[in-house]
Amino acid sequence: MSLVYVGLGSNLDHPRRRLARAMRALARLPRTRLLAASGNYVSAPIGADEPQPDYVNAVAMLRTALGPGAVLRRLTAIERRHGRRRVPGERRNAPRVLDLDLLLYGRRRFSGSRLTVPHPRMHERAFVLRPLLDIAPAVTIPGRGAARRWLSLARGQRIARTRTHAWR
Ligand code: AMP
Repeated sequence: MSLVYVGLGSNLDHPRRRLARAMRALARLPRTRLLAASGNYVSAPIGADEPQPDYVNAVAMLRTALGPGAVLRRLTAIERRHGRRRVPGERRNAPRVLDLDLLLYGRRRFSGSRLTVPHPRMHERAFVLRPLLDIAPAVTIPGRGAARRWLSLARGQRIARTRTHAWR
């Protein structure tokens, strides 16, 4: 069994409702238990070419017997059920109904054509680090060290904790 962290994000079409549904879908994955879910955070879109609605983000902690590739396939399947279609050539920062990222898979480190773990940009994003640290204050990012240290570097990014929680 491995301890896995998943980042959830949405900025279109009732983001909070979508995060709640996605969190329930994570809780129902086979050979998997949802151990903790952070509260929701709101942040302004980064790297967007045009105005976009704010994002709502959260992080889930899971214990799973699924391998990393199987977890990623399950995440993609949940995104697809929310109507997300990956368009070839789609810009990385295009607005999205639901984005699920495999942030950490135990202490594993690898980089492949379909999957890189730890997620290659997680350490520079306050909207990942803040909710992650809420549910795992001592977590380390393999190859990069304590997540808490990276959050202090991302201080300039404005995010706000909301009173909503995806897992209720
Ligand atoms: P995006 O959702 O735009 O961040 O990109 C998702 C794509 O990145 C997927 O097609 C995955 O194959 C790939 N990918 C690579 N590493 C990861 C990861 N750790 N979590 C989620 N997607 C990943």
